[in-house]
Amino acid sequence: MLTVGSFFWLTPIGPNGTIGTLNNTERQRMNKIVIFAGAGISEESGLSTFRCQDGLWENYDVSKICDLPQFFEDRMAGNQQARQDVFDFYNMRKLNIQNAKPNLAHLKIAEWQQTFGADRVQIVTSNIDDLFEKAGCVNVVHVHGDTNSMKCLECDEEWHIGDDPFDSQESCPGCGSDFTKPNVVFFGENAPEYVTMGSIYQSGNRNAGDLFFYVGSSMNVIHPLRLFRGETKETRILVDINAHQLAGCGVRFDVVLQGTATESFSRINLTLKNDKIVGEILK
Ligand SMILES: [Zn+2]
Repeated sequence: MLTVGSFFWLTPIGPNGTIGTLNNTERQRMNKIVIFAGAGISEESGLSTFRCQDGLWENYDVSKICDLPQFFEDRMAGNQQARQDVFDFYNMRKLNIQNAKPNLAHLKIAEWQQTFGADRVQIVTSNIDDLFEKAGCVNVVHVHGDTNSMKCLECDEEWHIGDDPFDSQESCPGCGSDFTKPNVVFFGENAPEYVTMGSIYQSGNRNAGDLFFYVGSSMNVIHPLRLFRGETKETRILVDINAHQLAGCGVRFDVVLQGTATESFSRINLTLKNDKIVGEILK
């Protein structure tokens, strides 16, 4: 079991001197970091999930606002007010996000990307905010969409709108349809970036000693088993950073840091040793 102060670089050496199941020296050396981040990482930047009761969204029925079948139904019924409510709701969330600043956890991950290379530090998040990008992170996979783009439900075109508010009158630049929406994945909507997430986690894309962080995510959104199923112990080290207990989730984490994301990230020290990323938990 790992304790405070120990290195969590634990490559098992196989019987014939191979590391894990790989025998390509280069690949063995190039271990990588994969971060999965949920709402807990943004909480300390003042962003709550819409699942929380914090007053801001209480005038909206979230189950209707963020629901694709409902969105279709309102269109069929010609209910313009319902459409406008959806856009107003997401403009409020967007304003909230625009005023938020990245915290130490986002900044630390950005620093890792700069130190070890963006190809070795991959970020997957269920958050729709851009706090990773504001911190300087690149290639962030937003599995539930983001608030800086719109999507067309006729032709699936997505386009960047940056800081501009969502406009319910805006037509698709591809096909001209006015059946557009904020590019945030609704309940009942297909989430195409789950395919990207799946490929990042699939065993064929792993190297020995990869470090997987599961940060600030409740099991409700993306269950750890979804990411780590079929795992063999040799290929990875799992670190869970969470304010909540994930006991009984069916995945055994090698390191569990129970606390806020900023507290936990301030205790993690990663360095390069012979091209390998090694980690240490500071007291
Ligand atoms: Zn279109």
